[in-house]
Amino acid sequence: MSQGEKLEVRSGPAQDANAPWSEVPGLIDAPGGSVNIAYEAVDRHVRHGHGADTALLWFGAEGARRALSFAELAEQTARFANVLRAHGLDRGDSVYALMGRVPELYVTALGTLKAGLVFTPLFSAFGPEPIRTRMEIGGATVLVTTLALYRRKIAPWRDQMASLRLVLILGDEAPDGCVALGPALAAAMPAFEPVPTGPEDPALIHFTSGTTGRPKGAVHVHGAVLYHAFSGCVALDLKPGTIYWCTADPGWVTGTSYGIIAPLVNRAMMIVDEAEFDLQRWYETVQREKVEVWYTAPTAIRMMMRSGQQVAAPYDFSSLRFLASVGEPLNPEAVIWSEAVFGQPFHDNWWQTETGGIMIANRPGMTVRPGSMGTPLPGIAAGIVQRDGDRLHELGDGEVGELALRPGWPSMMRAYLGEQARYDKCFADGWYLSGDLAMRDADGYFWFVGRADDLIKSSGHLIGPFEVESALIEHPAVAEAGVIGVPDETAGEVVKAYVTLNPGYSASEDLERALRGHARPRLGPAVAPREVIFRTTLPKTRSGKIMRRLLKARELGLPEGDISTLETDES
Ligand code: ATP
Ligand code: MG
Repeated sequence: MSQGEKLEVRSGPAQDANAPWSEVPGLIDAPGGSVNIAYEAVDRHVRHGHGADTALLWFGAEGARRALSFAELAEQTARFANVLRAHGLDRGDSVYALMGRVPELYVTALGTLKAGLVFTPLFSAFGPEPIRTRMEIGGATVLVTTLALYRRKIAPWRDQMASLRLVLILGDEAPDGCVALGPALAAAMPAFEPVPTGPEDPALIHFTSGTTGRPKGAVHVHGAVLYHAFSGCVALDLKPGTIYWCTADPGWVTGTSYGIIAPLVNRAMMIVDEAEFDLQRWYETVQREKVEVWYTAPTAIRMMMRSGQQVAAPYDFSSLRFLASVGEPLNPEAVIWSEAVFGQPFHDNWWQTETGGIMIANRPGMTVRPGSMGTPLPGIAAGIVQRDGDRLHELGDGEVGELALRPGWPSMMRAYLGEQARYDKCFADGWYLSGDLAMRDADGYFWFVGRADDLIKSSGHLIGPFEVESALIEHPAVAEAGVIGVPDETAGEVVKAYVTLNPGYSASEDLERALRGHARPRLGPAVAPREVIFRTTLPKTRSGKIMRRLLKARELGLPEGDISTLETDES
């Protein structure tokens, strides 16, 4: 602790005074023993004399550039909190954000938390229905959005949502029944004492990516900030002043836990780019802004690989000190490629919306094993388990089973909104069950095998799609691969692969044969794909995950299920 009063955590799992996350230097000195994420992430730094440091450096899609210092962010969020209060909103109310990555999004998130209300970000690209469903599940009282998004996506049904009391519109104009945020902020007082929330008070609701089915609304609490501070520091190497770029949108949990809270609470400087993925722009940003820590997702890394090393060659990447990836398995090929291009590998790490923070990681200073997710963070107990009737038993090294965690870290979800039974199913025998299959090697590194739902059973073999996809990606023609099992009379299931190609290659029977021939010696005849289908895109969620269940539903002519998070597609 640098200065100030240390929080006495009153309840919840963060109570363990010996937990490694309680050791983060300088953290948690809120007056009165409360813990409020916005205070820890913003106001605390101002109070300790760092108000002039840049908190957020924003690049608009059209070329604008705006820097916000911690002091400015403290003031803007105070104004926002005052606007909420002026409208009679208080704890228990929930604020939804529907907008692109603009500075107001960050002000909304932190201002909401400062006022003690619950914040939920939505992807601005969601259609009206996914927005409405999520707002209904959360009983939304406030929505902050743009005029264009309001007209297209909210106005048609707004009158039917009784809970929605206030709609704030970015800018200076608002239609009837809405309030313009610009003038409201200007008129509000620039100071606001953060509401002294307790560690177990709800702070955020995050919807899962919907990769395996209907998204769940995971509830997270203010005490989670301890873990964001800790994991940002030990898993991503965030330090005061670190120039940090997390490319994730806050509509996805990575974009808040590590795209807002972890960097700010560690007093790093975070870069936010409003634009969608554009490789040259990304490389230019890294070079120009001298990005030190870069956190992105496999889908983006595979796009970098697809465009080739020659596109990256002219740029100076010497500022990069740590690269990390999350969201999907990171193919070994991508780790090796990034080492060649950036002078160091992407470090894969694993976690979920539910866990609220990074659980398993290739951390700074560790030897990266390409294809492995790394080892559990200090204080995190992970195991590989198998169900045995009502009980679970732990499997040994080298065995494949369900990846499970011993609950007790502060950023763990506290509920699935309105879905007690679905939540209860995640826990058994003192474990939290992740729904992912994995294996631990003798040195304690964890290896992702696949989601339990995606596992393929073929002639007595259990096949994880990841190993098949990684083998295919090793072939120079293949950019991305999605692998599923399709029913087969003799084998039970056989492996079928969908691939997209790198520039310079085109679909042909010869290439199909070549890909199967490439995979067979690597995987063995039982595991190698029986059939390879060429696609121009694979179906993905807005957080960039391949939706294998959709490939499978289409293959089998079954209903597509919840596709509210579907982004790219070609059926
Ligand atoms: P839903 O739960 O709605 O189906 P989702 O599980 O994709 O969606 P998220 O919480 O965003 O929603 O993603 C967590 C999942 O992403 C993990 O359970 C795992 O399957 C996958 N994942 C995340 N990081 C990694 C990684 N490093 N390696 C392999 N898989 C990963
Ligand atoms: Mg999930």
